[in-house]
Amino acid sequence: MKKNSSKRETCRLCESKKLDLVVPLAPTPLAEKYFPDSETAGKQQFYDMDLHMCLECGHVQLLEVVNPEVLWDDYTYHSGQTRGIIDHFEDCAEMILKRHTPDKNSFVVDVGSNDGSFLRCFQKRGLRVLGVDPAREIARKATDSGVETLAEFLSPDLAEKITTQHGSASIVTAFNVFAHTDDLEGMVRSIRSLLSPEGIFVFEVSYLQNIIDDMLLGTFFHEHLSHHSVKPLIQFLERNGLELIDLQRVSIQGGSLIGIAQLAGGPHTVSASVGEIVSIEEDRLLDRPETLRSFADKLSGLRQQVSKLTEGWADQGISAAGFGAARSGNTLIAQMGLKDLIDYIVDDHPQKVNKRIGGYDIPVLPTKELTERRPDYTFILAWIHAKKIIAGNREYLKGGGKFIVCCPELLVVDAEFDLK
Ligand SMILES: [Zn+2]
Repeated sequence: MKKNSSKRETCRLCESKKLDLVVPLAPTPLAEKYFPDSETAGKQQFYDMDLHMCLECGHVQLLEVVNPEVLWDDYTYHSGQTRGIIDHFEDCAEMILKRHTPDKNSFVVDVGSNDGSFLRCFQKRGLRVLGVDPAREIARKATDSGVETLAEFLSPDLAEKITTQHGSASIVTAFNVFAHTDDLEGMVRSIRSLLSPEGIFVFEVSYLQNIIDDMLLGTFFHEHLSHHSVKPLIQFLERNGLELIDLQRVSIQGGSLIGIAQLAGGPHTVSASVGEIVSIEEDRLLDRPETLRSFADKLSGLRQQVSKLTEGWADQGISAAGFGAARSGNTLIAQMGLKDLIDYIVDDHPQKVNKRIGGYDIPVLPTKELTERRPDYTFILAWIHAKKIIAGNREYLKGGGKFIVCCPELLVVDAEFDLK
């Protein structure tokens, strides 16, 4: 039987062994795992979450790598399910085709193509498309809906098979795939061999600068093996025969980067945006361990504030719940020390409700329980949606309940609280 996880000893981008622990984090169970009974939920393993920085190239990463079969075993996320993502894909396709207008009938490959939502934007503009995504069920549905999708991990062998069958690609995209990939070099080599000489590779990653500026604690989970910044990526791409030619910061997922690269020596000019963003990173000392250490200090300051606020609650009979069985909530529970404070979490998701959260063994109840049980405090775990949750649960507040938002700063919200 394969081990559930392994530990890297070298930097994921440059192979250096000079790795510095910069943000110590409490271990967490895998996110989005729900179980019908307490015994199984309680038995789930906790894995290391510590963030390390490579002292050679500045890349920030998790060294603990959970076996993908364990991590993704019941992966059901469909990118096409949310309107925001579809609109984002439309904008990106538009932007990409403005930067590089391929000949009609050119070939586009999307790596980690999910339900084919992104590829559909290219398909309807007359381009040939192919998806690659190892999630078998989602890949099958995408193919059935008209976007041919190979249910495999991209590898150099698969890349060769694709180019033999379809020709080389004018555009290869990989959105939110880099962060999930342990063998980035293997992936980039495969992408390089898919590209035609004038082709471009477009990727989106969540951006370390936003994580630091906005305390985006919710982006820390075991699926995110890397937290990217531009300088380490440029060196990495160069070593692998690619040149970064364009960069754009976008607000999706709390703040992300879209990068465009071409084969080294390719025909496209390098946009000023690359130098501009690198120089901002240099000003902000983004590749220095002390920058990440001060982020870690802020985080432990928040945790202390939470523990001060909740001191003595058990003795005083003060009750607390959580709102939103979310991936980010999984991290928040561990990093803010909420496990023993929360009696239950409310959420209406049909695959989560009336189950128990893996590792923490906390029950998930329907949201109506919030007004029925009236806990004194409710921690907002899906904190990206804090405003919406507060606005939608005025009844609970009017009845004397209070919401607690932990990030980016500790906030206690009662009925008098002004949302603006
Ligand atoms: Zn490195």
